[in-house]
Amino acid sequence: MTNEETWSSILAQIQLNVSPAIFTTWFKSTSIVSVENGEVTVAAPSSFAKEWLEQKYHKQILTLLRNNDNSIREVFFKVAKDSPTPQKAKSPTTPPTQQTPSGQLGFDEFKFNRDTNLNPKYSFDGFIVGPYNELAHAAAWAAAKNPGMVYNPLFVYGGVGLGKTHLLQALGNEVLNNFPGKKVRYIPTEKLTSEIIYAIRNGTIETLRAKYLDTTVFIIDDIQFISGKERTQDEFFYIFNSLYNKNLQIVLSSDRAPKAIPELSDRLRSRFEGGMIADVSLPDFETRMAILKTKCQQLGLSFSDEILSAIASTIQSNIRELEGALTKVAAHTKFKNTTPTVELCQSILLSINPKKVINYKKIIQSTVDFYELKEKDILSDSRKKEIVKPRQVIMYLLREELNASFPFIGRKMGDKDHTTVMHAYKKISAEIKNNEDFQEEINILKQKIYNS
Ligand code: ADP
Ligand code: MG
Repeated sequence: MTNEETWSSILAQIQLNVSPAIFTTWFKSTSIVSVENGEVTVAAPSSFAKEWLEQKYHKQILTLLRNNDNSIREVFFKVAKDSPTPQKAKSPTTPPTQQTPSGQLGFDEFKFNRDTNLNPKYSFDGFIVGPYNELAHAAAWAAAKNPGMVYNPLFVYGGVGLGKTHLLQALGNEVLNNFPGKKVRYIPTEKLTSEIIYAIRNGTIETLRAKYLDTTVFIIDDIQFISGKERTQDEFFYIFNSLYNKNLQIVLSSDRAPKAIPELSDRLRSRFEGGMIADVSLPDFETRMAILKTKCQQLGLSFSDEILSAIASTIQSNIRELEGALTKVAAHTKFKNTTPTVELCQSILLSINPKKVINYKKIIQSTVDFYELKEKDILSDSRKKEIVKPRQVIMYLLREELNASFPFIGRKMGDKDHTTVMHAYKKISAEIKNNEDFQEEINILKQKIYNS
């Protein structure tokens, strides 16, 4: 296993146990520079980050490194040699004392259970359900009530930061609530891969198999990382079958559907496709607001709807970023001791994610490109079918994604009446509900809008 693989496996575990803001601030730009005589050296992007990791996370990082390889004795931190980009090197806006009043926050966050790898912070209670994740939620819930009996395997897929890990962990925690004696194991694929490689190298594969084969609910996160790793796939196929044949529950997540994972053996692919496949698409505005409100409650924040709406309409495609933005706005206001204004909020959001900020122009342009039309046709009064439909789609998206008012949308769409916009919104909403192909089309379009 390369240092890079080891570190990404460690980071995957850390990510599970710290908040998104902490992960991004302290861990994201780190790497292993050397492993010699049981001593690991980790590079941090700035001296500030180096000190922070040393003081707050030394013990946890060492424990994780040792779990991975028990010959590791010590971990050291240094500032990365290659000069980091200014953004990486910049000290975070919030000084350490703000985030860790007791100096112990880092320790408290590592609450996960060493046997199951489950973190109790992830529960179904804290999981907001909207149209975009309803199916995945229902399937996970059913599997937690009746492990191995209903959907086996359960395969959940969707983009980054959309709640897959949360859902899988909630499933695991719920199984333990329902059936305290059952064995649940959660493992990120990077960790599974490193365990398998280690076991093969050390001739301990039988021990590893035995360890997994008594698992009632085996949860493997981010299985797309198994792509191209033939030996790991062979071993995983063996484990998968042994569990499956005993009616033990297998749950997988991935950033894409099984058919879209490259370099995956056909036999694994067909196993993945043999159970229940549930996708998580993009959360609509209402759901994003609901998530922000829940997070505010959890964090003891009280922001006006106007502020939350500014955040929810700017950050659309990633709930981790949505949380990160909320944390950042909160940190800013606490630091400056002010109530945030929408303008302040927007400038903070812009600094977090300049590319993801979308506006009405972006929606119009991307939709026009998507349907291979011209903007002037869309804004015209033409009643041709191939123009009317995309025009209605734009109106729908402006409402749904930006929460824009009907009159505003009418003005931007070539001075149409607001009732025309309302009609379009209703029509497209209904069609999305009733026509799966159309729903898929709109999802692809949305991803184009956010990712271009
Ligand atoms: P993924 O595994 O799909 O990349 P995560 O499960 O790590 O995403 O989710 C990112 C963050 O967003 C986590 O902090 C998670 O708790 C939060 N989150 C995601 N979806 C929801 C939801 N539906 N309700 C509440 N919080 C959510
Ligand atoms: Mg995840």
